Amino acid sequence: MTYDPAGSVPASEALFARANAVIPGGVNSPVRAFAAVGGTPRFIASAQGAYLTDADGNRYVDLICSWGPMLLGHAHPEVQAAVAAAITRGTSYGAPTQPEVELAEEIVGRTPVEKVRFVSSGTEATMSAIRLARGFTGRDLIIKFAGNYHGHVDSLLAAAGSGLATLGVSSTPGVPASSAGQTIVLPYNDRAAVTAAFAAHGDQIAALITEASPGNMGVVPPAPGFNAFLAETCTRHGALFISDEVMTGFRAAREGQWELDGKVEGWKPDLVTFGKVMGGGLPAAAFGGRADVMAMLSPAGPVYQAGTLSGNPIATTAGLTTLRLATDEVYARINRAADLITNGIGDALGKVGVAHAIQRTGTMFSVFFCDGPVTNFDEAKRTNDQAYAAFFHSMMSQGVYLPPSAYEAWFLSSAHDETAVAQVLEALPSAAEAAGRV
Ligand code: PMP
Repeated sequence: MTYDPAGSVPASEALFARANAVIPGGVNSPVRAFAAVGGTPRFIASAQGAYLTDADGNRYVDLICSWGPMLLGHAHPEVQAAVAAAITRGTSYGAPTQPEVELAEEIVGRTPVEKVRFVSSGTEATMSAIRLARGFTGRDLIIKFAGNYHGHVDSLLAAAGSGLATLGVSSTPGVPASSAGQTIVLPYNDRAAVTAAFAAHGDQIAALITEASPGNMGVVPPAPGFNAFLAETCTRHGALFISDEVMTGFRAAREGQWELDGKVEGWKPDLVTFGKVMGGGLPAAAFGGRADVMAMLSPAGPVYQAGTLSGNPIATTAGLTTLRLATDEVYARINRAADLITNGIGDALGKVGVAHAIQRTGTMFSVFFCDGPVTNFDEAKRTNDQAYAAFFHSMMSQGVYLPPSAYEAWFLSSAHDETAVAQVLEALPSAAEAAGRV
């Protein structure tokens, strides 16, 4: 049966109709359109702590947190105050400032990177890291994994996750064959495929880029030792290992996914990309890494990269304030909330006999509506989209806002207190029943 996502949200419907007249698909980023789950996207009027309020006045516990950035919850008073104070000093100068130095120091202090360059989006970060890797190695080929999403960079859109997985798009018009032809796409968690690709093209591979722990096909953590194997293989072949921590950075754990594997196992990526949490909800992202590689970047070196709003003082102030407040206690709180919610999901779906796999890395998790474990994109595609849609709309009708796609991670914040978690737990049994009826 197909689930009827009916539900009266006249103000959102009216805004969506107006949006569709002037914005393609009515949204400025595809997954927001609810295409995979059906129904009208909620237009958000305001947010506070763990809650979103839509244009019709409905209040939801937010389990997306702006797709990751809002680690401390919405409208955190200290972040707001810092941003408000920064705005009184002007919003952009196109010249260096103190907050960007302090944010760079904070990032270098808590991650394996030695130097960092700011940009405005995760897409820019991965695009620039790829260019730098090519400039540094003098090689052209890039390896990426199916189901990994690194932003809408031409050469990285092949077999990508996120909105492309949601919409079932495996490649996109507008990417020249010459660009796509420089990308080798391999199945995730598959050591043999990596070994074979390096055996065939080792001396032409500039970089291998991987999500530090994929979250764009749902959460599919690396098998134990997989990232270490990738780092070691790249080093052996003179290629750079780019760990994309746009989603996991300062989110999966205080130092990112690297804290959970590289730091423990004793290896470092050559380059790392960051975004989301480090901007505190404003447009800021970064790429960084080995000092000798970063020294190739303009104006220190010949690889050009620039940005009018890069290191913007408001964005870097929001990011810096967020990271300074993101203490071990914050991650412990979020992990406790994630424990409660993932246990609740498992219980609720188990009781009604719905096949599921809850997968997690640090504070990040997602739910596949199929038997697990899910270790790669092909397995992720087994998830029952209809069951997820039914589950999603039941949760929404009970005031819980989930990702409108079965292929996205769920995000919590330190503002998800007992009350917010209790509301999620109470909604789960009937959502599980709705999924079970599909
Ligand atoms: N890399 C990863 C791992 C991401 O999750 C995303 C965005 N979801 C990006 C890159 C692109 O970031 P942005 O949307 O800021 O361009």
